[in-house]
Amino acid sequence: MIQLRNVSKFYYSKGMISSGITKVNLDLDIGEFVVITGESGSGKSTLLNVISGLDTYEEGEMLIEGRETSHYSGADFEEYRKKYIGNIFQNFNLINSYTVYQNIELILLINGVSEEEIKKKVPDIIEKVGLSEHMNQKVSRLSGGQRQRVSIARALAKDTSIIVADEPTGNLDSASAEEVIRLLADIAKDKLVVVVTHNFDQFEQYATRVVRMNDGRVIEDKVITRRNLEGIEGGPLTGKLSNKSKFKLGVRNTFNIIPKFLLLLVVFLFVTLSVSGVYTNYKETQSATSEFGYNSFFQNYSDDRIVVKNKDSSVITDEQMRQIGELSGVKTVVKDDIMLDKNVDIENEYLSFYGFVYPIDSLETDIDEGALPSKDSEAVIATDPEMGEIMGEPEDVIGRKADLYLEETGTKLTDLSISGIVYLNTEDSDSDGLFSQSKLYLTDGKMAELRAYSYMSASDIKIEVGSRDLKSEADYMQYRLIPMKGVAKGTAIVPDEFNDYYSDGKAAGKNIKISAENMYFSSKASLKTSQTFTDKNYDKLIGVDTYDEHMSDIFISQSDYDALFDKGTYQISVYAKNSHEADNVAAQLKSMKMQYLPLKDAVSNEFDVEGITGIVQVPFMVLLVVVVFFIAYFVVRLILKSRDTYFAIVRMLGMSKKDIKRILDIEMLVVVSIAYLIFIIAVVLISNDIISFEYIKYLTEYMSLKGYILLYLVLLLMSYLISGRASRKLFAASAMQAYRGEV
Ligand code: ADP
Ligand code: MG
Repeated sequence: MIQLRNVSKFYYSKGMISSGITKVNLDLDIGEFVVITGESGSGKSTLLNVISGLDTYEEGEMLIEGRETSHYSGADFEEYRKKYIGNIFQNFNLINSYTVYQNIELILLINGVSEEEIKKKVPDIIEKVGLSEHMNQKVSRLSGGQRQRVSIARALAKDTSIIVADEPTGNLDSASAEEVIRLLADIAKDKLVVVVTHNFDQFEQYATRVVRMNDGRVIEDKVITRRNLEGIEGGPLTGKLSNKSKFKLGVRNTFNIIPKFLLLLVVFLFVTLSVSGVYTNYKETQSATSEFGYNSFFQNYSDDRIVVKNKDSSVITDEQMRQIGELSGVKTVVKDDIMLDKNVDIENEYLSFYGFVYPIDSLETDIDEGALPSKDSEAVIATDPEMGEIMGEPEDVIGRKADLYLEETGTKLTDLSISGIVYLNTEDSDSDGLFSQSKLYLTDGKMAELRAYSYMSASDIKIEVGSRDLKSEADYMQYRLIPMKGVAKGTAIVPDEFNDYYSDGKAAGKNIKISAENMYFSSKASLKTSQTFTDKNYDKLIGVDTYDEHMSDIFISQSDYDALFDKGTYQISVYAKNSHEADNVAAQLKSMKMQYLPLKDAVSNEFDVEGITGIVQVPFMVLLVVVVFFIAYFVVRLILKSRDTYFAIVRMLGMSKKDIKRILDIEMLVVVSIAYLIFIIAVVLISNDIISFEYIKYLTEYMSLKGYILLYLVLLLMSYLISGRASRKLFAASAMQAYRGEV
């Protein structure tokens, strides 16, 4: 079977040549139980390694079944080992975290034996070495003798014709050693078993042949008994590790050492949270830049606001508003939508407020000072104390009359009083616009009143006086229409210059025709001038001394004013629960056949803020992910360090680097998927308010389905790269060390 002809092996180290074995001649055959013995350093291991193809030789010739091997390459020897050699080691080289069954199964999987056959074969082999009782026990719980029997079983499972063992009893007590030797002798009936020992006495009674060595030379080669060779059954296994087996081993390795699994899980949870944090942060900045982008039509354009109207610009009915209010993802419906884009000033000696108008229904927080409005002339302000809009104590502001200026319409209301204050912390609240974050909350009645003013300013108003058309536009109308108590329906009080518009110099008693037109409606009124006013009679006629503000206004009754401008709701705004829900609400409005404009889509970025985002933020984001990657990688490396032995052993058992990497890939993939799954479960629980976790809640605000899918793909990629780097490092400590028992 194996013939050595004058084989010599030299070691070169530090420029010195020492001889491992010198001119060895041996013929070994199937059926022999050869024991190589000698002093330490006599070349026993070297000889065994040459025979088993682990070491090359420099001189002579070794023949395997008559074939010369002196020209063999590394790959040829690897092939030889796989086909012919089963190894047994002094230190067993078993996977301690696997059971006895799994250790035997592993070698069969690596060699492509089918599951079915494995199920039949493994228990038989285990029985042969007398470990049936321990079949499902982890190797780490077995005694040394039992372990060596497992490693013999593993060598048997591979079914090669040669089994080599270097000091197989070196770590065993004498009773265990005796059992192991008997087992090897038994095996040797139909195989060639070559054993190295410095303690020949233990083997004496079983060996069929003894080779004694000294100083690298064979000094004695004695055949003790010669056996009759029976027919040799079976043969070496030649199959390959299947994909299914790789998956099976990957999953097994994930869970077989629980603390290791938990550590990896923690690492990947950290990676999951970090990556989604980076993504959220990016999304948040993007949405913040779009908030601070510039929109030329709406001023109050938070990204959860959607402006809605009927396609034919008809009045939105109460029923429609009710339906919209019930859509999923809707937070509030604002009826007096036009008001949302109006800035108001509120002034008195203790207050200098500037902000947007909101209906009181949309106030979500509690009042910090004072109370909710109890009548239409009362309002609540929300302001950041840092901004200094309140000058004095809260008591100075609450209950005190203040002037309300409606910007751009030039309207001033003098009957407002503040009933309550909400303190904002604008540092962490969302900004609703470019100009101010302060908010004025009004009753529905007050909103309607202001809306009428706004429609007036948004309308084209024509005033026909006698033979003249006094046309004016919203931004600079010369004559405004002001509703005033005490003016009778159908009449108007006009400035005395109106007298000049008539040939007889008298405006009183004459008709004036007013028409208003805007994008939603047109309306007309025909009024009779009842009086004209001058600075002299103004106070008496109107009842307040506001002549300076109203010297060129036309006073009409509230009901005529409403008939002209309060024509119902044509446009509303819907606030979604968050900007992500806004898309969902928009989709539902679409199916309701409403016309809608999500303001987050309407923002035009004049300064190309998103371009800047792209340039500055994306590289930063990538950098963060890379940092997270390396942190994770180094921790995973540390955790996997305990696995170097595992990888060395499977390598020694004949698994290819590619397959080992694949198995590690699968392990990482399983862990990362579990981490991701835990994250998703947490997200679901948190978004349903079952548990609370502020950071994850924050994460979910900006995550969309696309985000979740992207996150998973990034995680998979990261785990793949980590596994790739880790396995490359692992292979640096090579299989050869494991072969030689140096691991
Ligand atoms: P044994 O197994 O009988 O103790 P070895 O085969 O290990 O002996 O060693 C035989 C000789 O070869 C010794 O002199 C030893 O110092 C030398 N030797 C073994 N391995 C190496 C090596 N890797 N490098 C250099 N010298 C070695
Ligand atoms: Mg040795």
